[in-house]
Amino acid sequence: MNYRHAFHAGNFADVFKHAVLARIIEYLKRKEAPFRVIDTHAGRGIYDLASVEAGKTGEWINGIGKISTARITGNASDLLAPYLSTVSGDGGEPDQYPGSPVIARRLLRKQDRLSAFELHPEDHAELAALFAGDWQARINLLDGWLVSGAHLPPKEKRGLVLIDPPFEKAGEFDRMIDALQKGERRWPGGIFMLWYPLKHDGEVERFISALRGSAIRDLIRVELQVKKASPEPGLYGSGLIIKNPPFVLKEELESILPVLTTEMAQDAGADWRFERLTEE
Ligand code: SAM
Repeated sequence: MNYRHAFHAGNFADVFKHAVLARIIEYLKRKEAPFRVIDTHAGRGIYDLASVEAGKTGEWINGIGKISTARITGNASDLLAPYLSTVSGDGGEPDQYPGSPVIARRLLRKQDRLSAFELHPEDHAELAALFAGDWQARINLLDGWLVSGAHLPPKEKRGLVLIDPPFEKAGEFDRMIDALQKGERRWPGGIFMLWYPLKHDGEVERFISALRGSAIRDLIRVELQVKKASPEPGLYGSGLIIKNPPFVLKEELESILPVLTTEMAQDAGADWRFERLTEE
């Protein structure tokens, strides 16, 4: 396990993923009934943007660095407010960036719960220390790929599973499909959100056509790219597969994504898409 999210925290892909995560959590809060957020690849929780790792890539500067100082107005501003409220910084650039378990936890109500899985011992220890004594959060040093086959459904029977692996090993796209299939079998009504990188075009296209041809119901694909597709190493964008998306999500993302794309654009190839892959 070589991947460390500290090098990438707060980059454009994190902003996109976390803004959508926050919209889904806000939707779940429309009903009083409790829900659970399950984060299968959680990371360490809080990232210091002045750290050696963050400084080495400077990726956050083109992500939360831009969004935290952008003048966003109107509906997009209202829709982004819950996400931005979880990132400290009083209107200026933040000095820390929260990872997905911290963003989720900051948005939960007292009746809701978080279960987070992290396999890297150091990141797990940091995350467990962060949530020590928090009875709403359970932090597990376990393989997140086992969640779909063994830990679903949660007792609340409402909620979201975030699957955000590091993509450092071959076969992650296949594992995502397997996790979705198992997840649907065990929890047909659960919302699932899976992250993938836009950098291996062939693999992404195979992944998408496998999902389109699968029997998995109610899947959408959302992507945000900050620059032209290129064979150079590194991400030019990222995508999310969402199963059982809230019915309001399309309209919300049609407000948010054009703004995030414009603000984080690195060249004229910046763009976004929202596409249905399988029917409800
Ligand atoms: N979800 C986090 C966020 O949005 O802030 C970022 C997660 S990062 C992309 C992937 C994390 O998965 C890393 O912290 C890595 O140590 C962890 N990881 C890798 N393999 C894992 C596994 N099999 N089970 C659980 N965690 C794993």
